[in-house]
Amino acid sequence: MKFVFTISIISALTLLSLFTDAAENVEAAITQEEREINRWLASQEENMLELLTRITNINSGSLNKAGVDQLAAIFSNELSSLGFSISRLAGDVIEMPSCPGSDYKIDVTDHVLASKSGTGPKFLMIGHLDTVFPPNSPFQEFRREGDLMFGPGVADMHGGLVVMLYALKALEAFGELEDKRISILLNSDEEIGSLSSRKYIEEQARNHDWGLVYESSGTNNLTRIRKGLGQARFVVNGVASHAGGAHEMGRSAIKELAYKIVEIEKMTNYETGVTVNVGIVNGGEARNTIAPCAEALVDLRYPEPQQGEAARQQFENIANNVYSYPVDAGEITTERWINLHRPPKIPTQKSDFLLEKTRAIGRLLGQELGITDSGGGTDGSLTQAVGLPTLDSLGVAGTGAHSGREQARVSSLVERAQLSALLIRRLATE
Ligand SMILES: [Zn+2]
Repeated sequence: MKFVFTISIISALTLLSLFTDAAENVEAAITQEEREINRWLASQEENMLELLTRITNINSGSLNKAGVDQLAAIFSNELSSLGFSISRLAGDVIEMPSCPGSDYKIDVTDHVLASKSGTGPKFLMIGHLDTVFPPNSPFQEFRREGDLMFGPGVADMHGGLVVMLYALKALEAFGELEDKRISILLNSDEEIGSLSSRKYIEEQARNHDWGLVYESSGTNNLTRIRKGLGQARFVVNGVASHAGGAHEMGRSAIKELAYKIVEIEKMTNYETGVTVNVGIVNGGEARNTIAPCAEALVDLRYPEPQQGEAARQQFENIANNVYSYPVDAGEITTERWINLHRPPKIPTQKSDFLLEKTRAIGRLLGQELGITDSGGGTDGSLTQAVGLPTLDSLGVAGTGAHSGREQARVSSLVERAQLSALLIRRLATE
């Protein structure tokens, strides 16, 4: 009896899993046209590598305007020749509070918006032109070893830009681009939190049907859920004084910041998934001067939107409190800049559909793509939060982003371009 019972449970589970698989995998076999598109892309690996080498060897750290501009020009030309009309979206000057002498100002390079009209669903493709590596970084050049390539941005995400462009070129080569409605937003400030491009990204996201973002797919994974990200700057102003002659007259900004850092660090809770990191501190003028100013730059990660808002309130409270001295109002003040720059990426039915459809097409192409969650944010979190179903990891298979070990698999250039070309042409007829 028990045996029969077990068998029937197993067969019910098998049936259920067959049913679920069937629901997830209703992708028709590769067509003759698609085979030709794949063949064409396979013949383009050298051209893709040539372009990737060229753009990797141009330093495009977020603050290097000249370099990021060169990349913007290269992709504007390429997209213009595919029939896109190109416009520039103004970058801004972002100012944040800072101690005297460290005036913190970011002059963001213009972003590129390429668009073309057509029929059917509206696609928004997003890629960032910037990398985390400034011009004085030792990591500057493209290098290949067999099926691996190394260099700043090969994974994050110059490689993804090349994948995106060649998927479009493939559709163009077979007369399938002309009728598609596609916008492409290439921003220049993703690595500093899309502080200028956010408004453009959200505006575009509201007007499109599918969001495709070309961040790296890691070791062959698509990302489903992402934490939200925030950043905060605290600038504590105290009162300078001689550390020997008039110690009691001083109000040390460093001492106050130290207390605040302890309070900030208490916000980390691995159970709720909220983490904070005081990543940079600066302050003081001399060993024998009571510090008149001290500043801290803080990173925040959070799984749920309300946790982000709660953390914002905690940051405000910590800024408003004075922990170190029983002081009169105004003796110690704290300027603060708090920005929840990326909401959590929370899956929806439509974004799960997009994810599973992409995986199913991947299987047809012999690409086994897993599913992962991530603590890192992308611009796909912005688009998804305003209602655009988004897949944000369509770029190359790579690892080691943001380090001198950044690398990617050469063969994934063609693989992911094939994946995107087929995804776009199949979504177009949904
Ligand atoms: Zn990136």
